[in-house]
Amino acid sequence: MFQQVLSMTGTQASDFPALALVNFTSEERKKFMVNVMNLTPKIREEAIFKAVALDKQISRIQLTRRITNRKFFTDEMGSSEPPDPKMADGGNSYEVEKNCCLAIRCNKVWRKSMEMKQKLISFPGQAVFCGECGCLIDRERVEEVPHTAHCVKCKNSHNGNGHNGS
Ligand SMILES: [Zn+2]
Repeated sequence: MFQQVLSMTGTQASDFPALALVNFTSEERKKFMVNVMNLTPKIREEAIFKAVALDKQISRIQLTRRITNRKFFTDEMGSSEPPDPKMADGGNSYEVEKNCCLAIRCNKVWRKSMEMKQKLISFPGQAVFCGECGCLIDRERVEEVPHTAHCVKCKNSHNGNGHNGS
């Protein structure tokens, strides 16, 4: 079981699957690995786990972004401009609206993922902790929402007062 966890997170010093992070440039990978090596083994494991989860998510979003009508995106990095359903020509308005919702959500997740990627590269030791209460964000949550900067507890308390945390 422990061996399984190890190979899943891939933190054996001998082989670094983190180097396979496909959505990181070689420069970014290098910087990430240098910073991650300065961490204690425990935190290093968490940082690599998060980077791998985030990398997978970025691949998924890229696919969704390609499938979703590109006209909803005003730029490659994800505009904060919400797509306008009226801009879409004819067709099934339900389908258009659905695509819009997907595009907005997709854009938001993309932006947050890019922010988290930069944070992980520069400050991997900080990126694994909740930005609010400072606890280590558990892996279940990291797998579910790799770009998150908050633990479940803080995220839920945000939902209560309409704060847009993630
Ligand atoms: Zn928290």
